[in-house]
Parts: sequence; C-alpha cells; structure tokens
Amino acid sequence: MAQGKKGEHVAIVGAGVFGSWTAHHLQNAGHRVTLIDAWGASHSRASSGGESRLTRAAYGKDAIYTRFASESLPQWQALSAVSGLPILIPCGVLFFSAVEDDYFRGSMEVHKQLSLPIEQMDRATMQRRFPMIDFTGIEFGLFEAKFGALMARRSVQTLVDRFVRAGGECRLGSALPIHAGGSRLNGVKLQSGETLMADRYVFALGPWLPKIFPDVLGKKIFATRQEVFYFAKPAGDKSYSPEAMPGWADFNDGDIFYGFPDLENRGAKFAHDKHGVLVDPDTHDRRPTQAALDEIIAFRDRRFPGLRNAPLIGAEVCQYENSSNGDFLIDTHPSLSNVLLVGGGSGHGFKHGPEVGRYAASRLFGALKEEPRFSLSTKGETQHREVH
Ligand SMILES: Cc1cc2nc3c(=O)[nH]c(=O)nc-3n(C[C@H](O)[C@H](O)[C@H](O)COP(=O)(O)OP(=O)(O)OC[C@H]3O[C@@H](n4cnc5c(N)ncnc54)[C@H](O)[C@@H]3O)c2cc1C
Repeated sequence: MAQGKKGEHVAIVGAGVFGSWTAHHLQNAGHRVTLIDAWGASHSRASSGGESRLTRAAYGKDAIYTRFASESLPQWQALSAVSGLPILIPCGVLFFSAVEDDYFRGSMEVHKQLSLPIEQMDRATMQRRFPMIDFTGIEFGLFEAKFGALMARRSVQTLVDRFVRAGGECRLGSALPIHAGGSRLNGVKLQSGETLMADRYVFALGPWLPKIFPDVLGKKIFATRQEVFYFAKPAGDKSYSPEAMPGWADFNDGDIFYGFPDLENRGAKFAHDKHGVLVDPDTHDRRPTQAALDEIIAFRDRRFPGLRNAPLIGAEVCQYENSSNGDFLIDTHPSLSNVLLVGGGSGHGFKHGPEVGRYAASRLFGALKEEPRFSLSTKGETQHREVH
C-alpha cells in the first residue's frame, strides 16, 4: 500500500503498462492522480501496445521475478473478470529445451521454495499433450498451467478506463519536465502550453526515458528493434486454439524463439527473442524485414510442421527498452527527490505490470525498502543480458 499524505497530487507521465498500474495503485491508496500520455494509453508504438504478451513465473534462479509474476497474476485475473472481453487467456506456458540446464533447474527450485505449481515434462509427454509442436531434439519441458497470454493493448486500455471512471484524470499530449533549480521538479510542461504542478512525479516512459532524461539515462536504457509475425491456421483446424496449444518458448541452445496460440483468431504468433539493432522509438521504420520473416519461417517450419506454407497475416514492429542486464529500473531521480523513474522492462516487463505499479507507488513515498536490483546505481552502460 502506497503511504504518504492521502490526497497528494501525483502526475504520472507515460500510460504504458508500468505507468497505468502505478496510477491504479496510487488511486487506490487515496491519492489524486493525473496520467499523461503523448499518444494515449498503450498506443501502437509503445512497448505495451502489442496484441499479446506472455505471462509466466519461471525465471531460473531469479526469485524476485517469479514472485512479481505470481503476485501479479491474481491482479490480471481480477482485471480480466471485469473487462468484458478477456484480458488473461490461461492457455498455459511451456518452456522447452534440449537439456535440463541451470535455468530449468533454478526455476524448479524457486517454485518449490515458493510452493508454486510447475509441471516437469519429458519429450513423450510434451509430444502427446501438444502434438502441434515437433519436439525433435528436445528432452525437457516446464509447464505452468495457470499462466498464459495477456491481451496487452486491451488490458492497459481497460485499466486506464477504470482509472478514469474511478475519478482519475487522463491527459493526451506530451509532457516535459520543468526544473528551475533545486532538488525538486517544479512541474511538467504540457503540449497544450499549460504547466501542471503536482506534489510528486512518476516518469514511466518506456523507450522514451533516455530521450527525456539523457543525462541520467542516455547510456542506461537501450531501445532495440523487435519484430513479431502472425500466420493463419489451416481452415477448420482447432489444434492452434488456446484451448489446445500453450504459449511457448523454445530455448534453442540459448537463441530463444517464442510464440502464442491463435488468440481471438488473429493467427499463431511467432517471435525471435534476440535483441535487434538500437532504434529511436519516434523514428524507427515499423515495416517488417524480409530477413526477420525468413528466420521466423525457417524456425516455424521446423517446430510447427502443420503451419508450413501458412500465409503471413500480420506483423508488428516494436521495441524492447532494455536495461543493461534486464533488471527493471524503479528508483528516485538522482537529483530530483520528488521524481520516480520507472522502466527498463527489457522484453519481459509486461506480465509484472501490477507488481511494478504496486512497488513504484510505495517507493514514491519512500514506504518500501529499496530493492537493489531496481536501483539506478546497479544499471550499467553496456548491454549484457542476464534476466530471461
Ligand atoms: C515485441 C515485444 C514482445 C514482448 N513480449 C513480452 C512478453 O511476452 N511478456 C512480457 O512480460 N513482456 C514482454 N515485452 C515487454 C513489455 O511489453 C514491456 O517491458 C512493457 O510493455 C514496457 O512498458 P512501459 O510502460 O515501460 O513502456 P511503454 O509501454 O512504452 O509506455 C511508455 C509510454 O510513455 C509515453 N511517453 C513517452 N514520452 C512521453 C512524453 N514526453 N510525454 C507523454 N508521454 C510520453 C509513450 O507514449 C508511451 O505510451 C515485450 C515487448 C515487445 C516490444
């Protein structure tokens, strides 16, 4: 629970998954919240603006993310229950690999310590349960039945809609920090020309963080180009539906591919979890490349033989907003005591939105002990991904 004087005014810039859940928790704690976004909640260029995101609790030995994901799950379920259309599709998530390596052993250990369910599967079991996947060369799998897919754009927009219905204020247009000296931010300059002054400020700008705070974050958040592709299932075929097929990730000797079943008839989704080239979120070319498509099709044809020759029916080009190692950034600005910086979702942040928001809302008022892994001081200036 976020503490502080009830009724303080908090301005949150950025209505992606992190900013919106922070707004939700601050509002629930009795604060007056203004949520501002240049292009609107979960728009198509934001990192939260895609169709779907996986949620799972398996994180190797990284118990902190296992806890965040499992504590976020009931909050997603609750939002899904009131949203009209589904937000969480509990199709289960299957991770598989040729070997039972440290990541898989670590996930099982942490799940055991936290008493969380996880099912270990051998190749024969996986092949029987999920016949749409060809498990040749795979020996080991972990299945989390309660997790699955989040409808990303819909979930953030539903949350923001509920925030507004509950009395929260939402403003469309850009906002830039105003600092006239001293240790506090004085306000934000809105695109309309108005100055908005609040008691405290949260900047949850995803890949735009280094553009607005170049001195602090210019070298610490890396926006990389990422492409995803959707393919049509064969007519009348139910084997790619979320009732039959899980969300999945093939560890593929460390070169991970992942994907989703045919959610809401949008097509089976495939992506390569490799960081692409560095990009500027305002200007990068959103057209998919032939090279990325060729790579995905080669993978798809090997693991999903039933989708060979399936027509491409959609693509999204987005960006990850990586910290140096994949840990989130949730920390006070180093020289502005009333500003919290929130970001660094690093290609895995979406599922944690509810708990990131809860932690950020508490940190804003200094109510929680600092988690070193989320602090600015632990963020390096070279990309060295460690969290998966
Ligand atoms: C292709 C892809 C696949 C992914 N897959 C998964 C997955 O399977 N599971 C998972 O958990 N995570 C996944 N992620 C990661 C996850 O989606 C992101 O970590 C998360 O959405 C980041 O949210 P955010 O709120 O930090 O940023 P954003 O969603 O980018 O939000 C930032 C907002 O700030 C606004 N803004 C910026 N500057 C200003 C300004 N000056 N004034 C006003 N507004 C401003 C922007 O308009 C934007 O809406 C994936 C990401 C991508 C790109």
